[in-house]
Parts: sequence; structure tokens; C-alpha cells
Amino acid sequence: MKYISTRSNQTALPSEAVLKGIASDGGLFVPEIFPSVPLSTLVHKSYQDLCFEIMSPYFDEFPEEELVSYIQQAYAKFLSPRVTPTVSFDSYHLLELFHGPTLAFKDVALSMLPHLMTGSASIQGVKDEIVVLTATSGDTGKAALEGFSDVKGTRVVVFYPKDGVSTIQKKQMTTQKGDNVHVVAIDGNFDDAQNGVKSIFSDKEFNETLKKKNHLLSSANSINIGRLVPQIVYYFASYSQAVQENQISLGDPINFVVPTGNFGNILAGYYAKQMGLPIKKLICASNENNVLYDFFATGKYNKNRPFILTSSPSMDILISSNFERLLYHVSQGDSQFINDAMKDLSTKGTYEVTPSMKKAIDEDFFGGYCTEEETGATIQKIYGQFGYVLDPHTAVAVKVYDDYVKETGDDTHSVILSTASPFKFTKSVYEAIFGSSSEDDIALISKLAKKTDLIIPADLLQMCESDDRHTSVCGKEDMKNCVNEILS
Ligand SMILES: *Cc1c(COP(=O)(O)O)cnc(C)c1O
Repeated sequence: MKYISTRSNQTALPSEAVLKGIASDGGLFVPEIFPSVPLSTLVHKSYQDLCFEIMSPYFDEFPEEELVSYIQQAYAKFLSPRVTPTVSFDSYHLLELFHGPTLAFKDVALSMLPHLMTGSASIQGVKDEIVVLTATSGDTGKAALEGFSDVKGTRVVVFYPKDGVSTIQKKQMTTQKGDNVHVVAIDGNFDDAQNGVKSIFSDKEFNETLKKKNHLLSSANSINIGRLVPQIVYYFASYSQAVQENQISLGDPINFVVPTGNFGNILAGYYAKQMGLPIKKLICASNENNVLYDFFATGKYNKNRPFILTSSPSMDILISSNFERLLYHVSQGDSQFINDAMKDLSTKGTYEVTPSMKKAIDEDFFGGYCTEEETGATIQKIYGQFGYVLDPHTAVAVKVYDDYVKETGDDTHSVILSTASPFKFTKSVYEAIFGSSSEDDIALISKLAKKTDLIIPADLLQMCESDDRHTSVCGKEDMKNCVNEILS
């Protein structure tokens, strides 16, 4: 397998693509071809076996027994035997992606990435310690800490905005265990944290100094191909479960509804379709930051709009980075177009696709969005009807699915991706169902459990009882020094 940059004809082997994360021309790595997998051989496989079938052609440089061992280690931490089970009630089928250690779907990929990175380093003969730097608005940071914690040959440093993450997200990070993990609060907002990390990455001199001390900087963000590929697996797993449970027959078409921010999750669904999974529509669900909804309506991507803080913060995004990969595929690899579009996006905040690209996108995708008020109402409605508690991100997807069915009359079997446990966003969920409360997220954990008969996840209980281990705060101008201190 070779990966090619979206912005030139630069190529990379799997191990190079994983270590680099982003191509040196600023483009994202995409697979040169999509391996096809025969559907009939996939049904009745365990998640781990399915994962091996899907991932091995993308990482064909890795010895098979290595990959098998990565997969075993990565998914041993998941609390469901199916890893990502689909639960059904009425015509709703929810693919629960939150049974990993941090209660959100990013665990699926971030449990795997550290192994792919250390494996890649070994293939490339890199002996340096890999230092993963991440700025987080909440979910990614914790999932990266958990994924890299005590993985040999790695270190992870997470910066989060001091007042810009939820109480639970903050507590999850400050109580993180592991000898190779570092968590630092930034006196600033998420953009400050992200800009600080970016400027550290682009500081050649600093990188060379680190290199002399045998440290290699790397990133765990969602444009790394090592995060994208593991996400393809659960689309196949959910399809396979629907066949096993006689909800569909092998070969029948299926829709997936995906609560979307950076476009990584839904792009993995598009890759599954390219590999032969019979997906009819990928339904892209946005919150009030509905850049993608507007794109699907007009063919014009326009980020010039106010940034709205919502109850589904992991989807509060105006630049969906992984969308660049879709543009590459639907333009038949027109890297000139991508360069122009991305330049327009950074200078004017907007770009437009050609009619033929728009047509190709419309064949596979449908866009919808959900307001804040509708998000709460959907959590309340689904709890009232089925006694099932949705998190706000998943609620966005459920509402968009309802709208899709109303608008199109499409009754194809549809699976909604459920990306977080309701306990991760306790206050929004509690208030949507039981009305406003003066208590904070942490206090409401046990109340929500009691009133809804849900069991509090063990990791969360443990978190509530743990002391903070990471309390350092750093000025937004001071992040480089901070990294320096941590590493010396
Ligand atoms: C990251 C995240 C999303 C958005 O996924 P993308 O791959 O960025 O589109 C949705 N829900 C939750 C809970 C998340 O953490």
C-alpha cells in the first residue's frame, strides 16, 4: 500500500504516513487504492478478526503477528464483547462506539494509534522517543492520554484551555495515570492551545534541538491515517451484526447517520463503501455550526460565520479537516484543485466545488443539522419513548435521521452512530430530561444513574474518587518552554 498526498504526487509508505501525520506539502495522505474485501467472509467474524481483515491491506508493511497483537491490546480495554455493539429499538439502530476507556468514540482509533506509531518507528529504524503533542477541546486529549499511557517508547503532552473544557473532561485529564503522560492547562482558549502546538511543530530549530536529545515530535490528531483506518472497521461490524440478527440480508443496502465535526468518522464510512460495503447514503449530521449542511445544500464551503458553543462541543468545528480527503477522491485526484480550494479557504474563508464534484458527493451523502433546542427535545423524546438515554452528539444524529426519513421517505435500514456515553455530558443530558439543576456535571452523575436506572461506568466512578495528578498551568506564549521542561 502506498499513500499519496492530496496536494501533490508525493507518496509515502504506511509507516512513513503514520509517523509524519501530514505530508510535507501540507496535504493529507490518502490510500492510492481501496482494497476490496469480500463481504461474505466478514459476517460471523469477531471484531478483532474483522479489524485484522480490514486493516492489514492498509498496513501491509507490518508483520501479521504484530498487527494481531496491536489489535488484541487495543480492544482488550473495551467493555463490550462486541467492542462496538449495535442496539435496536423500533426503527432506531444505534451503533454504540463509547465502550472504551474514555467513554467516547475516539477511543476506537486512539487505542490503536500508539501501537501503529511505535511499530512505524521500528520499521523506519527510528530510535528516538516519540513525543505526541496535542491540543484538545476535550475528548481527543483524554483518549490520547489513555491510548499512549505507559506505551513504551512514547510520551504524550496534552494542552487544554483552562476554562474551555467541561468539568468531567477536565477531571478525566487531571487524574490520568501513567509515567509518560503530561497534562497542562493553558491560560487561553482552544485556538490559543492549538496555535501554540502548531507553532511548536513548525519551529525547525526547536525540532532539531529535540532531535539531538532523541525526541521526535508527532501528532495524534484526526488527520493521521492511523486514526482513520481503524474507524472503517465498525461500519463493517455493524453491518455484519444486522445480518446476524436477520434485520437485513447479506448484500442489502444500508444507511449510516454520523454526528460530524472534523469529518473523520463519516469519511471512514465513505472508505468502507469504497471497499465494498453496500452503503446507500451517509447522512452527515451537524449541530448549529452547520458549515457542512450548507455545503451539501449549495456546493459552497463557507466558514465565515460565528462560532457557536453548543451542548455537543466535539462537533463545534468550522473547518472539517478531513473533508479535504473527500474532495481529493471526488475530483479524481485533482491536487491543483485542492491546492486552490485550500488556499481560498485560508485567505477568503470559502471555496466552491465543480458541478461534477457536487454530483458525485450528492450520490453518497445527505446533510442535515439540529438546533440546540431540538437536541434537548430529542434526548427527552427518546428517553420518554424507549427509556434510552442519548448523549447530545448522538441526539443531533437521531434528529437529523428523523428529518431525513420525513424528507425522503427512504425506509432503508439505517444505523445511527452513537459517539459518546451520556455520562460524559451529564448536565446537558440530565437537564434535557429532568429540567434545570443547580448542581454540576460531577454531582449529577449519580443522580442521572439513579433516575434512569443506568449503571455508572467503572472508569468514571474511579475518576470521581481519584486525586488530581496534573495541575500545571502555562501561559499561552510559554508552551515551548513548558515542553522543554517536561522533556528535560
Ligand atoms: C470527535 C467527536 C465527534 C465528531 O467526529 P469527527 O470525526 O470529528 O467528525 C462526534 N461526537 C463525539 C462525542 C466526538 O468526540
